[in-house]
Amino acid sequence: MPPHPQTWLKTTPSGLFCEPGGFFIDPTRPVDRAVISHAHADHARPGHADVLATAGTLAVMRTRMGAERAGGQQQELPYGERLTVNGVAVTLVPAGHVLGSAQIVLDYEGSRAVISGDYKRQPDPTCAAFQPVPCDVFVTEATFGLPVFRHPPATAEIHRLLASVDLFPARTHVVGCYALGKCQRVIAVLRQCGYDKPIYLHGAHVAVCNTYRALGVELGELRPATVAAKADLQGAIVLAPPSAIADRWARRLEDPVVCMASGWMRIRQRAKAGGVELPLIISDHADWDDLLRTIREVGAPEIWVTHGAEEALIHAATRLQIRARALSLVGYGDEDAA
Ligand SMILES: [Zn+2]
Ligand SMILES: [Zn+2]
Repeated sequence: MPPHPQTWLKTTPSGLFCEPGGFFIDPTRPVDRAVISHAHADHARPGHADVLATAGTLAVMRTRMGAERAGGQQQELPYGERLTVNGVAVTLVPAGHVLGSAQIVLDYEGSRAVISGDYKRQPDPTCAAFQPVPCDVFVTEATFGLPVFRHPPATAEIHRLLASVDLFPARTHVVGCYALGKCQRVIAVLRQCGYDKPIYLHGAHVAVCNTYRALGVELGELRPATVAAKADLQGAIVLAPPSAIADRWARRLEDPVVCMASGWMRIRQRAKAGGVELPLIISDHADWDDLLRTIREVGAPEIWVTHGAEEALIHAATRLQIRARALSLVGYGDEDAA
């Protein structure tokens, strides 16, 4: 009988720990050996001794925290290649979340656990698409684990943005979006929808965009918003961190239309409270339907839910005859909520 993953994959105060392998997954404090699913700040923390991740994740980590803090030893593992660590085979498989994001597939003595990190199923021109991997235990997030959360296609939301730009040619559309992943996806989908004018960036968004481009993601012409004249920004699209759209930074723009690209924009109250005039429901996390679809596709008899709205997902899984438990891992959040 292969050992159940609960005998070799443990929850600790630092996060999930693979005991025979001697490594942590997305540890929340500095450790000797870490396998990192993707470069968002709650999953990729600075100061680990050894870090194993995809080339994309390591590149973004170096951009965001500096080469030194991204890990004493940084080891790249390409998607689909298997590396054995103390008898545990580690394989990274695309998670479709942001550039470089990976599900971590662990095989040990005939049993398999898949830690999905954060993931989505919608198409995203800036990263490789999620691949379902059959397993014994599927470890999933549940950021949008409630039936109310249904994300429309991103192209439909971007068409709404472009319709607003046409309607208000003298105003500046400022789109709040997280710096890693969301920003580049909004740009890439704008390009996909035929928008070929320069797109302006808040200073906080420039570095990660450059890393994406260095890794071969086409983003078209980008300009710094900070040095642009107010008149140049009339009718333009400006991308900025969510924290900047409601403050002084946005007020110097020409009669701004405040937009926000986030899965949370499904909740009208949330958009209103944030002073968002044009909410865009664009998320890099699976919505309710895609969480359930994924659980069915991986065919695991058991799921563990790391963080988010665990209860509804656990209830729905149980109805599908899947054993489900909440890990209630602390230290993970949702980049959109920041
Ligand atoms: Zn993430
Ligand atoms: Zn996360």
